[in-house]
Amino acid sequence: MAKEVGFIGMGAMGGPMARRLMAQDYKLTVHDVRPEIVAEWRDLGADVAASPAELGSRVETVLVSLPTPDVVREVALGADGIAQGSMVKTFVDLSTTGPNVAAQVARGLAAKGITAVDAPVSGGVAGARAGSLSVMLAGPKALCDRLTPTLRIIGKNVFYIGPTPGQGQMMKVINNLLSAAALVASCEVMVLGTKFGLDPKVMVDVLNVSSGRNSATEEKIPRAVLPRTFDVGFRTELLHKDVRLCIEQAEQLGVPMWLGQTVRQMWAFAMSQGDGQQDISTIIKHMERWAQVTVGKTD
Ligand code: NAD
Repeated sequence: MAKEVGFIGMGAMGGPMARRLMAQDYKLTVHDVRPEIVAEWRDLGADVAASPAELGSRVETVLVSLPTPDVVREVALGADGIAQGSMVKTFVDLSTTGPNVAAQVARGLAAKGITAVDAPVSGGVAGARAGSLSVMLAGPKALCDRLTPTLRIIGKNVFYIGPTPGQGQMMKVINNLLSAAALVASCEVMVLGTKFGLDPKVMVDVLNVSSGRNSATEEKIPRAVLPRTFDVGFRTELLHKDVRLCIEQAEQLGVPMWLGQTVRQMWAFAMSQGDGQQDISTIIKHMERWAQVTVGKTD
């Protein structure tokens, strides 16, 4: 694959992923709606496109890392979208878009001769910086194989999920429902143990070499809750969106999700409290308030 790509959405995840490509001598043409971010990328030496359509007229392969399915649909198929570009052949969606919109976007782009590939990622901002993300690919196998060396720069674990648009997205929303469940369950027990008088640091050390360990006890709680920095780097509104996308699929398929529904309610509650822009680790603050304890550093 040519070492020249377009990149749209230079946010918490897109920024570090694009930097890794640039560090490997990829020539980047970028686009974002935030002028200050665009200026930063111009200073770093990237070309800048004023719209997705313009970007799609300059490069054959476009990678996007955008917040919501609606934004992905607009950037791909909107009046000034990538589909209006004269050069683009491949659209790679690194965002968590969900299977339905992924399939819709793939159909819309196919009508313009552009092939869509799902490539949602997991591993957070730290993983994006370190290049240790997992990437869940769906699309034509030969194309996914051609994209893999490029995607390995951003994620060391690149998985081929299947040929049908949306399959990578389904894998991703399943992962995130589980991760969201692990976070709320772990926060709940950390609050309980602290209320009882256990030392939260000791609790985490025990859990992490015992059967209760998970991505929240291993990373999020020790790194962002105990030091009270609340800086996992993932906004509540985005995780709430991922849980919603997963439950919507379950409902479409008629699959009961007892725990999934409860997890969804927990994140819906956080949204109702105005937490949309807050880091996902702040969910523990509600549980702390109910129990009247603080988990971790208190000074
Ligand atoms: P973000 O909000 O930090 O970044 C999104 C970027 O897209 C921003 O720079 C924003 O200005 C830009 N943008 C928004 N609308 C646009 C438009 N119409 N045209 C061009 N640019 C536009 O979000 P993020 O945390 O980087 O997440 C991006 C995607 O990756 C989401 O789908 C999220 O669910 C997924 N994701 C996030 C994480 C994480 O830990 N943050 C981990 C895995 C996956």
